[in-house]
Amino acid sequence: MVPTMGALHAGHVSLMQRAHALGARVVVSIFVNPLQFGDATDLAKYPSDVARDIDICREANVDLVWAPSVHDMYPAGFATRVSVDGVSEPFEGRHRPGHFEGVATVVTKLFAVIRPDVAVFGAKDFQQVAVVKRLTADLGLPVDIDVAPTVRDHDGLALSSRNVRLDPEARARASVIPRSLVAAEKAWHSGVRNSRDIEAIVVGELIDIDIDYASVVDPGTLAPRNDDSGPAVILIAATVGGVRLIDNVVLT
Ligand code: AMP
Repeated sequence: MVPTMGALHAGHVSLMQRAHALGARVVVSIFVNPLQFGDATDLAKYPSDVARDIDICREANVDLVWAPSVHDMYPAGFATRVSVDGVSEPFEGRHRPGHFEGVATVVTKLFAVIRPDVAVFGAKDFQQVAVVKRLTADLGLPVDIDVAPTVRDHDGLALSSRNVRLDPEARARASVIPRSLVAAEKAWHSGVRNSRDIEAIVVGELIDIDIDYASVVDPGTLAPRNDDSGPAVILIAATVGGVRLIDNVVLT
């Protein structure tokens, strides 16, 4: 299974291809989940074209597309929430209160209906993967979580359904995000290991955009690293031209 919110792009298609390699049948869900949007205007502005999405799924040999309505998912009287402590609290959890409760609730429900053997998620949403892995382990859900690498545009910008909302000027400015990650990766490979030093390199590149966070943390716990020896993940959220974008890179 590949859970999506539609407005499909090459990143989603790469997840479908991966799913085909892992399973005999591939199900794609398309559901813009209102529970995970704190901001009603962000939800209203979320792009949607289900007919086009179905064409893309057909092209990718998807066996079943499931595009439930909000009422199908949350009928009158729906009162259950799935909430994950710890990994869901910092970063996106702090900047988008309720977001991961919405994600955890919808993912649990999608899994309960489809009962997939494997679900494929994108590495682009690093914290979401951490939340979904915690949730499936804690609830003992019989599904393997597979993580697919981030698909990027020609300048390195991570593909996102939100990118269509960037005007040309903002789209050009957004390329500082991948550029900052590449600069940090380069520093890491030349021996820079300290979180603060790496953050300074990232922030130094993130000019002309509004940073929510640009942090280097332990990829397992999303907490500050105990020392400079272990792996790290750089997590970035920033707004460009009114569009909020996230990205990350793991340093090992
Ligand atoms: P979304 O429709 O944005 O909720 O994304 C659905 C799934 O596609 C999530 O698992 C995302 O992490 C994944 N995804 C989104 N963008 C990309 C990308 N550029 N590369 C790889 N996976 C992605």
